[in-house]
Amino acid sequence: MLLLFFLHFLYFSHAVYVDKYRDYKDYKYYELTGSREGLENLRKFMLNIDENLVHSESLNKTEVILSPHLVKLFNDAVKKENLKVKVLHDDISEIIRLEKGNTRRRINKFSWNAYYDVNDIHQYILNTTKANPEWTELIIAGKSYEGRKILGLRINTPYENGQRETGKPVFFIESGIHAREWIAPATTTYFINQLLTSRDPDIRRLRDQFDWRIFPTVNPDGYHYSYNVDRYWRKTRSVSSNGCRGADPNRNWDYNWGQHSASTRPCDYQLYAGSKPFSEIETRTLSKYISSIDNLLFYVAFHSYASLLLLPYSDSEEHVDNYDDLVQIGQRSIEYGSRVNGEKYDGPGTAAETLYKASGGSMDWVRYALKTPLVYTYELRGSSFHWPPERIPEQGDEVVQMMLGLADGAKELGYY
Ligand SMILES: [Zn+2]
Repeated sequence: MLLLFFLHFLYFSHAVYVDKYRDYKDYKYYELTGSREGLENLRKFMLNIDENLVHSESLNKTEVILSPHLVKLFNDAVKKENLKVKVLHDDISEIIRLEKGNTRRRINKFSWNAYYDVNDIHQYILNTTKANPEWTELIIAGKSYEGRKILGLRINTPYENGQRETGKPVFFIESGIHAREWIAPATTTYFINQLLTSRDPDIRRLRDQFDWRIFPTVNPDGYHYSYNVDRYWRKTRSVSSNGCRGADPNRNWDYNWGQHSASTRPCDYQLYAGSKPFSEIETRTLSKYISSIDNLLFYVAFHSYASLLLLPYSDSEEHVDNYDDLVQIGQRSIEYGSRVNGEKYDGPGTAAETLYKASGGSMDWVRYALKTPLVYTYELRGSSFHWPPERIPEQGDEVVQMMLGLADGAKELGYY
């Protein structure tokens, strides 16, 4: 019997995890600075050698993660382009191991000193609705390629007289669209917990002013894959006609699709924009849900990392008609956030001007297609995709204050 059970276990554990775990043993995490042209040349050169290169760009910095056998070629190219190089992590496999070290196995210990898999996050949302039935509702806003739910939480507190207010402005939070940016879902559940449990009158006021729709992991398949197989997975998990997996869900929305920082190659490890706009079921179903919301005032997306506050548009330097208001409200948000730990975000500015041009993102689509007045993307803090789990509350508290700053700034300008 025991043997049978064991065989059964072997078969099914194999069936579930057909992909071999990528341990990134001895891979190094490098940060590069220098001329924009030099950085761009280096990235192209390295991508030619390794199309699965893990890389991340901001205005004047590039980070790459390198297998030990590419280090020599890399060092030569760095010299040639006259770039400055700093090793952020010496052996990535160690970082990945430590990152999951705190994770509690049991969901009743869900906490903010650990990163959790998507099932645990979903269970947390479910438990939260059960614990606060009068204030919260479960939202199923769509589904994923592998059949997971795009699960969110609605928080809508009733009036003092017990009636549920219907006309509150809606505040939407989208998090985790890029699978490997783990700090985004973690701070989002932290934010939910603060809204529901804090005794701080400012946070209670923040909670009561809006009809919240909060989605910690809008790319659940990708996150699950990043959690269990490949830490640097960014895309969805759909299968292309040539067998390659996934599209970048933040290049897949139906606005100026495929024009900047977007790849047409399904095997591109990071930036494949999908076979057409909304080819991915995640963006297709979620966008339908967002379109159905009346009174949507705020749409906020969390990414990592750069300590940046971004405004639409991502793919053009054109300024939206209430750009000055967006800047003013965003400045308030940054100021509130900086009071927590003395860490000040850069911006606000359009993503196109502050970061780099990218097309097909959710922020641009929401602003253009739905005319949502106040649309922001936060690139959370950090110098790599790794943020120590025991320090999640540090960024969580900043996010709470930054959302309060948005709310106060918008109130002052008469948006609600
Ligand atoms: Zn991102």
